[in-house]
Amino acid sequence: MKISRVVLHRFSIGMFVLLTIPRLIGQNIDSLNFVKESQHFNFYSTKGDIKVLDSLAITLENNYSKIMNHIGIQIDKKNNVRVYPNVKAFHVAINQPDAPDWVVGTCHGDDLMMVSPLNPGTVHTYESLMQVIVHEFVHMAIYYAVGEKGIAALPKWLSEGYALYESGQINDHTRKYVESSLLKKAPPTWTELDAASDMEFGKMNGYAFSGTIVEFLIVTYGIDKLVLLIKKPENIEIIYGLSKNALEQQWIQYLEHEKIE
Ligand SMILES: [Zn+2]
Repeated sequence: MKISRVVLHRFSIGMFVLLTIPRLIGQNIDSLNFVKESQHFNFYSTKGDIKVLDSLAITLENNYSKIMNHIGIQIDKKNNVRVYPNVKAFHVAINQPDAPDWVVGTCHGDDLMMVSPLNPGTVHTYESLMQVIVHEFVHMAIYYAVGEKGIAALPKWLSEGYALYESGQINDHTRKYVESSLLKKAPPTWTELDAASDMEFGKMNGYAFSGTIVEFLIVTYGIDKLVLLIKKPENIEIIYGLSKNALEQQWIQYLEHEKIE
């Protein structure tokens, strides 16, 4: 299927947006005030963003049980959601003042930090930020499931792809984008995706490709194996009964709509 260049370009820059930055020293964290709590979260924002917190809370709570059940954990405390009034304030808070506008959310330990959907910047929209908060919560849930050491051992395509999957960010646009880029060149390898820096990952459309890897694994082998893989990525051959290379070949077949053999 042909997609116009303009649409594709817009899509590629607007697509995904999320970084997990393991160590942050937020300068602005305390400038937000505690405003409300929901069943599992405490929300902090400026006055101007109070009116969006109900929608954020509903979105998170609506996805909470599904993600907890899939990963098979419980979290016994409330976690924080910090909503920054604009992209600039968020970038200062994560100590990346020069980050591009697609960087709009992160998870730092038990804090979710994000740009307000009311002021989404040049790349994102209100709606896409409602997915971003779920995406970041998936990172948090993985953090609770595997700990800091486990996070460090997790391939980037696996953590990002799973966050995309659970937050509904893999959609027809993503698939069409990936399909059309396959007409031009081979997809990045899993190793390349894993080795990329956060910025490189964004530039190579690592989010979209990773989403399709996780989607392929779940569609073909089920979510239980995927969760086992998140918990023990070094066991990939035991979990799937195939080498990583063989799985990677199957993923390419999946992308090309070939029968997987
Ligand atoms: Zn992410």
